Amino acid sequence: MINIVLFGPPGAGKGTQSEKLIAKYELIHLSTGDILRAELKNNTPLGVKAQEFMNQGLLVPDELVIDMIDHKMEEFPSTKGFIFDGFPRTVPQAEALDKLLNAKGNPIKGMIALEVAEEELVKRLIIRGKDSGRPDDQDETLIRKRITEYNTKTVPVAEFYTLQRKYSGIKGIGEIDEIFGKISKIVDTF
Ligand code: AMP
Repeated sequence: MINIVLFGPPGAGKGTQSEKLIAKYELIHLSTGDILRAELKNNTPLGVKAQEFMNQGLLVPDELVIDMIDHKMEEFPSTKGFIFDGFPRTVPQAEALDKLLNAKGNPIKGMIALEVAEEELVKRLIIRGKDSGRPDDQDETLIRKRITEYNTKTVPVAEFYTLQRKYSGIKGIGEIDEIFGKISKIVDTF
């Protein structure tokens, strides 16, 4: 199985590149942000719990997200692989994902990180907020808080995969297809 962690701060282009990866490699896209927003829309107990964190630009507690991803993976027993987008966001989440995948004999093949400077991210997210309807993209204070959460809690996840020699960084600036070409080159080695 080709299991990939697509990594990068909010606004780096993970969603866009995921769509292209799904099409080319027939993988299942698991975006914890998308799943949480769907839970919230359906007013499930998980959605209600998650909402108070999401509305403040804070990360949802690890155990909620880990359980959620574990259940989602079980829905696709015969997939060629998963693209994890927006997950893992903390080192405990990365450890839990390793445990779940190693138990199935299908470890993460690699982390592909999209690198984009902070001011560019803020610009992109403000533009995205005009169409996406996402409240957390429409408020610059919330956008900056999410980037701070990323810098403090999520950046260490890159170190986690670097230690396993699974980290590849790519500049997330430029043409979408050019960036995808670089990602494909890495995925083709998996
Ligand atoms: P995203 O769509 O990935 O930007 O996620 C939107 C929001 O959902 C984040 O700001 C967090 O509140 C929450 N979220 C998404 N993925 C995770 C995760 N792996 N761990 C904790 N919170 C998450």
